[in-house]
Amino acid sequence: MSKFIFITGGVVSSLGKGIAAASIGRLLEARGLKTTLIKCDPYLNVDPGTMNPYQHGEVYVTEDGAETDLDLGHYERFTNAQVTKDSNITTGKIYYSVINKERRGDYLGKTVQIIPHITDEIKSSIKKVARERDVDVTIVEIGGTVGDIESLPFLEAIRQMRWELGESYAINIHVTLLPYIKSAGEQKTKPTQHSVGRLREIGIIPDILLCRTERPIVKEQREKIALFCNVDTGSVIEAVDVKYIYEVPLLFKKEGLDDLILKKLNLKSEDKDLEEWTNFVIKRIRNPGRDVKISVVGKYISLPDAYKSIYEALVHGGIANDARVIINRVDSEEIENGRIEKYLKGSQGILIPGGFGSRGIEGKIDAARYAREHNIPFLGICLGMQIATIEFTRNVCALKKANSTEFDKDTPNPVISLLEEQKDIKQMGATMRLGAYPCKVVKNSKSFQAYKKENVVERHRHRYEFNNRYRKSLEKKGLIFSGINTQDDLVEIIELKNHPWFVACQFHPEFKSKPDRAHPFFRNFIAASLEHNR
Ligand code: GLN
Repeated sequence: MSKFIFITGGVVSSLGKGIAAASIGRLLEARGLKTTLIKCDPYLNVDPGTMNPYQHGEVYVTEDGAETDLDLGHYERFTNAQVTKDSNITTGKIYYSVINKERRGDYLGKTVQIIPHITDEIKSSIKKVARERDVDVTIVEIGGTVGDIESLPFLEAIRQMRWELGESYAINIHVTLLPYIKSAGEQKTKPTQHSVGRLREIGIIPDILLCRTERPIVKEQREKIALFCNVDTGSVIEAVDVKYIYEVPLLFKKEGLDDLILKKLNLKSEDKDLEEWTNFVIKRIRNPGRDVKISVVGKYISLPDAYKSIYEALVHGGIANDARVIINRVDSEEIENGRIEKYLKGSQGILIPGGFGSRGIEGKIDAARYAREHNIPFLGICLGMQIATIEFTRNVCALKKANSTEFDKDTPNPVISLLEEQKDIKQMGATMRLGAYPCKVVKNSKSFQAYKKENVVERHRHRYEFNNRYRKSLEKKGLIFSGINTQDDLVEIIELKNHPWFVACQFHPEFKSKPDRAHPFFRNFIAASLEHNR
């Protein structure tokens, strides 16, 4: 039976609980343990699929087609854990299920209540994942901050689980903040004491405190935190700021967090180390041989979380090529009206990520044109592929009004249009083309050079699609269709004939990239960019 680690957060949000959970997963895997990770999100949406990136950041898509929290991306990048639709539990999902059961009559004769019905549903959702994955340890991260009304049922559920299972089967790790007050020249422990106090009020006693801090914790402070928060001094773990998120597992290892967890959970395991991770990822990330400047042209540029997986995959591409990727974030609305040189000059590569809605579209089209005409390596992803298609049709095939019907319903040349199966869909949630689909890669293409195989499977999240009516005429003008979903005859990848590296795909390669195994497209895009203007 799986053991459990519950991770909560206190004091403020954005403490990096997701990265902490993922790093713990990595550490335990390095000790030979099989793990899985779950994220509980206390909002009422069933999933984040209909939320704006400003509300939520990136929507991460799993292999089985769930739209989930971006922390699941960290889990997949740091560990080998299997992450599926069940790995993200939201309040919306829990209520939906309980209300359906009530209508079906499953609770006949009873008053349906938050405790026990909602909390039972949470517990069984967590246990189901642990059971099905057959793992040694299940790591459960509770979103939000202790003290939020929304997260109370989740906290009550994990309190009950710990009580039912016993302390060698379930532990609580609380991630907290030690702010450094400059004027006092001191690190403050009071917010941590208060937040642990809030946890204790609802019956949860943390076993380990992960203290986020700008500076190392001095011995007296550790002792003070231990005494007032009722944990052993050895269970106060320093999580000092690091430059690169991939260093966090090493930091935790240095603090002995893996040994501590194993001891508390009464688990025995081999002592492998993080050598591979250190030698490849960390060495290269810290001391790259060269730099490469990549411009990402999108509309949520001011928000680092909006394109999380893209930025990480670029870092991975850099690691694979022993290079530091310097990302130039360009707001596509800024480059409309002829200001493109100012923003894109000097780019060694240009990437257009996914997106929805018409704002900023013309700027992205200008950016794709700039990459094509200046022979700058280009990677277009999802909307980025649709943009590259529109640009090519307008400027190479001289169909000036070509567009996607997403942006212009009445365009005379709908090179991108709605999938037939999408036309009658009224409901917005979870109805896009989602998750893994196969793609056949054409030999003698840049894509084949990257993948080195013909059959690949990639993740999708879109409604619109390349319109096959235009395939022949675009091909004549030098567009290559190098990836096809042969089952449904859908265009998956396009390339340009006379260009050093211009590849755009309808799917999202960024979701399958890992620090030690960059996605082939990101690896080769960075390699081509390093060659540009040398
Ligand atoms: N808006 C486009 C579509 O729905 C692209 C989606 C995306 O980039 N994820 O097809």
